[in-house]
Amino acid sequence: MSLRFNTTISSSPLAAARAWARRMANARGLFPRCSAAQCPEASKLWPSVRRRASGRELGGRWYCGEECLAGAVQHRVERLLAEAKPAKPRTYRVPIGLLLVSRRMISDVQLKEALRKQREAGRGRLGEWLQRIRAVSAGDLTAALGVQWGCPVFPLDAHEKFVQWSSLLPFPLLQAGNMVPVHFEPESRRLHLAFAERIDHTALYAVEQMLGCTTLPSIAEDRSVLRALERLAGQSRGDEICFDSISDSAEIGRTILSYAGVLGARRVRIERALAHVWARLEMPWGTRDILFRMVPQELPAPLPDSLWELKFNEKRPMKESVASLDG
Ligand SMILES: [Zn+2]
Repeated sequence: MSLRFNTTISSSPLAAARAWARRMANARGLFPRCSAAQCPEASKLWPSVRRRASGRELGGRWYCGEECLAGAVQHRVERLLAEAKPAKPRTYRVPIGLLLVSRRMISDVQLKEALRKQREAGRGRLGEWLQRIRAVSAGDLTAALGVQWGCPVFPLDAHEKFVQWSSLLPFPLLQAGNMVPVHFEPESRRLHLAFAERIDHTALYAVEQMLGCTTLPSIAEDRSVLRALERLAGQSRGDEICFDSISDSAEIGRTILSYAGVLGARRVRIERALAHVWARLEMPWGTRDILFRMVPQELPAPLPDSLWELKFNEKRPMKESVASLDG
């Protein structure tokens, strides 16, 4: 197979080769090749301009039509679900209780008492129980968490401007991760995110991929994060599309493709963040997020992981032993 172009007379073979390479690059831009291995258009040297207009991008690769994109979306979702395993307790960080004891912020006796109460209640984080028995203040606990995670403490209460960055990420994801986008630097594309208690690295990675930015995590006092989330809940656009009951990869894939078609998305991004498969559709007029909450059927219901869920649960009647601690 040979390609013929009307080449202009060049002064040297090198210049001619460069001119040919430039034309090839332009032609590729006008007629991009579909990334699907089984593309029915693959045998055609130049796919039609009409197909280029109807194609979509996923993960930096271009697909000529629905059929080719469907295979890629399906593969992507299956891979994300396969990678989503229940979070194992981290062993590479000093447990917060031991850290507090080693820094002489609490005593052995206080640690044991808090652990016993946590075990008896069957819920809540250790830091929460240490505060309940007044072994440690919220500020000291947050400072210790900053040491544990190796990141700075963000003074969220003194920083009202965080609200302007809330629309960068879907609110249900912020709520699930107990996290708040607190500052964005457009020039360097650095996004500062404040977390309560624990930093979720799946969320950080997903945000970086979705927004094409660098994330800088920090720890903030849990009550400040909860207050910030309550404020953001009232201001959220609420245009995310959320599914709580779909766990089948084929159904997730079909749902993403369906919305991409209806909304005319030119680009589709799919990541995993926390317990969600998160799809972002990019249209010429804006973006739309779709969230699928993964609920492993075989696992028992986990302890509430979100401050939001803890707060909600506390409004329900509690066991006597737990209620007496609140008094
Ligand atoms: Zn194709």
